[in-house]
Order: sequence, then structure tokens, then C-alpha cells
Amino acid sequence: MAIALALIFSGHAANSETQECGNGAFTIETPSQSLGTQLCGDLLDARDLLLSCGLEQTRPISIKVVGEISHPIGKCLSYFECGFDVISITAPEKFGDILSPYDPYALLPPEVLLESLVTHELAHALVTQSADARDIDIVDQEYIAAALELENMEATWREVLIGAAPVSLPPKPDLIDIMIYGLAPRKFATNAWQHFRLTENGCSLIARIVEGRFSFAR
Ligand SMILES: [Zn+2]
Repeated sequence: MAIALALIFSGHAANSETQECGNGAFTIETPSQSLGTQLCGDLLDARDLLLSCGLEQTRPISIKVVGEISHPIGKCLSYFECGFDVISITAPEKFGDILSPYDPYALLPPEVLLESLVTHELAHALVTQSADARDIDIVDQEYIAAALELENMEATWREVLIGAAPVSLPPKPDLIDIMIYGLAPRKFATNAWQHFRLTENGCSLIARIVEGRFSFAR
């Protein structure tokens, strides 16, 4: 989710074709078939991990590959529109134009970053679907998406991201705050994953958030 749901969204889908994925679970609008195939594999892998953490897909989801996603506070690489079950993702060849060279994400190869974005946005989508009518606070949404995005990443790349945005241990619940997310999203993510990895947290904490029994919101 890009900060807030009400932000103006604009995306441009260039000459795209539509691909089905996962027996109707996903519809992918993509400028190239090979990218669609790659996205389908990433979606199904990410969904397995999310399901193992109790997050279920209850409705079909559309994925749109776009040239650029913009909103008033800046550019983002991917976006989930919860009311519409739509995930928008920037075409990987544009990552370099959008990312600052100082952004830790710039250290990832495009295919690794793509998978990471897919996992992040799919986590938002499945939290929303699993929570049914319950409203999940944005800080909780970002905690889950950041933790599972890093959890789904190959350890080598996760270490690269964490090394570029380190947060000292032990994990700090006070930093699981939407202001920190806004100011330092990669540090927020490192801290969220480190917090998620504690035995007392993990998928059981995520389940409590989705069931409305716990929130980091203050
Ligand atoms: Zn997010």
C-alpha cells in the first residue's frame, strides 16, 4: 500500500495482453508474455508462503504492469487498491528510472525486486481479504507486508537489504509506527522482520492482527 488509500492513482498500461494465472485466481495485464509468466510464478510462490502464515485468498486479484505509478507525495514501485482487488506493479525496466541510487532496493537485481514487490502487495491483498469486513490499520498492514516480503526473500538478498538499512537488535516495537514507515521505510521493514522472527510473534501475531485482537496503532 502506498502510504494512504485515498491518494490519487494514475497508471498507464502500455499495449498489454491479459494472462490468466492459478486457475482464475489471478489476471495479469502485462506488456509481455514472459513478464506475465514470471509474475505468475512469483504470485503463486508468494501465495504459498502467505497461506502458510494463515493469509487466504478469497477473491480473484488483478495485476497490472504499468509504466509509472505516481501520487502527490512521490513515486512508488507498486500499489494495492484494496476496494478493487487490484495490484499495480511498475515494469521492471523502469525500476532504474524510479529508484534513487541510495535506495536499498536499488541493490537488488530487477527479478529479485519484482518478486519482493509482488510478495509485499499480495500480502496487503490477502490481509484485506482474510480480514473480511474488519478494518486493518495501515501500520499493521505495513508491518505484515514488510515482514513477509523479507521472509519470502532468499537469505542472501535479505542480508543485502538489511545491511543497507540496519536496525540494532533486539527488535523495537516502538519503531513499528506509521511515522517511521513514512520516514524510513527500509528501516521499518528491517525492524518489522526482526520483530516477526521472534518466536513469540511470527504467524501467530499476524493471525491476531487479522482477527482484530492486536494492533500496533497508537
Ligand atoms: Zn505496503
